[in-house]
Amino acid sequence: MEAPPATKAMEDCCVKVAVHIRPLIGDEKLQACKDCVTVVPGKPQVQLGTHSFTFDHVYGSTGSPSSSMFEECVSPLVDGLLQGYNATVLAYGQTGSGKTYTMGTGFKDGYQTGLIPQAMSALFNKIGSLQHQIEFQLHVSFIEILKEEVRDLLDPNSSNKSEITNGQTGKMNIPGKPPIQIRETSSGVITLAGSTERTVKTLKEMTDCLEHGSLSRATGSTNMNNQSSRSHAIFTITLEQMRKPNSNIPGDGSSNGSTCDEYLCAKLHLVDLAGSERAKRTGSDGMRFKEGVHINKGLLALGNVISALGDEKKRKEGAHVPYRDSKLTRLLQDSLGGNSRTVMIACVSPADINAEETLNTLKYANRARNIQNKPVVNR
Ligand code: ADP
Ligand code: MG
Repeated sequence: MEAPPATKAMEDCCVKVAVHIRPLIGDEKLQACKDCVTVVPGKPQVQLGTHSFTFDHVYGSTGSPSSSMFEECVSPLVDGLLQGYNATVLAYGQTGSGKTYTMGTGFKDGYQTGLIPQAMSALFNKIGSLQHQIEFQLHVSFIEILKEEVRDLLDPNSSNKSEITNGQTGKMNIPGKPPIQIRETSSGVITLAGSTERTVKTLKEMTDCLEHGSLSRATGSTNMNNQSSRSHAIFTITLEQMRKPNSNIPGDGSSNGSTCDEYLCAKLHLVDLAGSERAKRTGSDGMRFKEGVHINKGLLALGNVISALGDEKKRKEGAHVPYRDSKLTRLLQDSLGGNSRTVMIACVSPADINAEETLNTLKYANRARNIQNKPVVNR
């Protein structure tokens, strides 16, 4: 398998970070909250009190940002997928800030305009125009990480069924799927052993997977939001391409075209991260608190990985990137940094009552902006 050469644009490219400010919603309006996040006109710059941050893109709470957000942030990653590059889109922010709405991993109000549904249609459109030359195979997996355990959202009943306790004989094995494990091949490809990977032929089949998995996603009540998600949900599209015999690919393989030579395989992770609020604000205790601590572990590890990737000096010295510190970063290892493209969408509420968490989100996102991609082709 031969990967295409990295383009100049990719070599120069940092991880892109966008901020999505949702409008004030029900409760915030009822409490007469003030809008405390200001977008500087004509600049991708956000102000909160005395703090000012510049990002790659800022999508404000007015107008309809969805299609421009897709075009600017995710469409290039779909093109990259066709060219054999792994990619990751991360939605980060406190519970209630609009992560699920932005990604489209929920099936209520407006999910159709979310980034995942748009990415799926764009991908099928592009594949449709190349199908006479290239044979495509698409696979989908949808998992969530909760309490550092991986759960299969496409087969939610399969988890923890491999062993039950029997009063007389102690443990009894019953047929069932073993726990999902994150593995690394000798060539550095991360795989999820034991999770469902559904092969899909149509947009409808892929949409069904998104819908099915979204409905299975674990949610729980906290003081922040009674549909609070404490898990990371990861929807992964894997694209395999095989050039058909005797077919010539027109063009130079740039921009929208596939550069498939003989065989290419790449994946796109679309991640709806757990709420970034600190455990103390969720009023958690007992089990719930434990979940809060574990979620922080994933987000903390992600922040550390991002920071390590962003430090050019340390990277040149071959400094350690702590991918192994959480399941989330381990799973994303081959699609975060290196030769892959990453976009983080920091979701924030504009309400003054959320100012403290919004500031935390903007600081975290600002830290992420420093990642540089290494100019190497590793696949
Ligand atoms: P999160 O996944 O971060 O917890 P949600 O995506 O569930 O947050 O959003 C919280 C609430 O805000 C939902 O009721 C959602 O419909 C609404 N909402 C989020 N983003 C927007 C937006 N851009 N426009 C309108 N409503 C939004
Ligand atoms: Mg959510």
